[in-house]
Amino acid sequence: MAEPLFLESQMHEKIWGGTKLRDEFGYAIPSSHTGEYWAISAHPNGVSRVKNGQYKGMPLDLLYKEHQELFGNPSDEVFPLLTKILDANDWLSVQVHPDDAYAMAHEGELGKTECWYVISAEPDAEIIYGHNASSKEELAKLIEAGQWDDLLTKVKVKAGDFFYVPSGTMHAIGKGIVVLETQQSSDTTYRVYDFDRPDQNGHLRDLHLKQSIDVLTIGKPQNSTPDTVIIDDLCLTALVSTSFFTVYKWQLKGEASFKKTAPYSLVSILSGEGKLDVAGKSYPLQKGEHFILPADVESWHLSGELEAIVSHV
Ligand code: ZN
Repeated sequence: MAEPLFLESQMHEKIWGGTKLRDEFGYAIPSSHTGEYWAISAHPNGVSRVKNGQYKGMPLDLLYKEHQELFGNPSDEVFPLLTKILDANDWLSVQVHPDDAYAMAHEGELGKTECWYVISAEPDAEIIYGHNASSKEELAKLIEAGQWDDLLTKVKVKAGDFFYVPSGTMHAIGKGIVVLETQQSSDTTYRVYDFDRPDQNGHLRDLHLKQSIDVLTIGKPQNSTPDTVIIDDLCLTALVSTSFFTVYKWQLKGEASFKKTAPYSLVSILSGEGKLDVAGKSYPLQKGEHFILPADVESWHLSGELEAIVSHV
């Protein structure tokens, strides 16, 4: 039977985390330092489980392996995407991720290209997006000297902004920002700078300067240019389209019918509520819910007033 796969997933505590995953989304959180909800994940460090229908209780990694037909019999060996919501109650470390070739050779997993949709941001909130060095030599020199103000590029952000962060980009999400992140399914992060702050045990987190200098690219990051079309009650914005993923925003006020355009799609409801109709059955939707529309869902109908971020390979 064709049905959406609603998911329940794991929280991750972080030294920079807060309580907005509970306060804004109503999730149960383990502590007041909860940083990440791995909303749609088959990564071994936090696998989602199906919470409805014939596959109820099944972990997503196993489902992907044993029911490839639900994913269009893909060529990707592991489920390639990971959707997270991050609550940056403080700055995340200044970091960079490797590309697939470097990550496979050194870490045995995928590289990490990611992108952020800003759900909320406090006034004057900032991110780090890129750096000012014009050569690897200058980059290494400024990192080793700790000249962060000279090196790092800060950008002000507000709710609704979108940033494409390819592997090799220097980046950090700043204090007071909540984002939905769509990324390759990878957990490899090279920390460049962590603000010299200790964790709850008084330890500094590891830095990875050699790997960072290896993988950091020179030149300013090229953000994507979102493109919006309005189809009846639906405002559809293409946020980014790359070889790793395509990401859209749906803003619905009323009703819309959809036909499948990719083998399977990942959907996260960020605000509002409504109803999803698939194969003669209705599923209520509300803020904070995440689901996959698998390959046997050829078409679906949405009604209500809601905003969602949608991705596919
Ligand atoms: Zn990152």
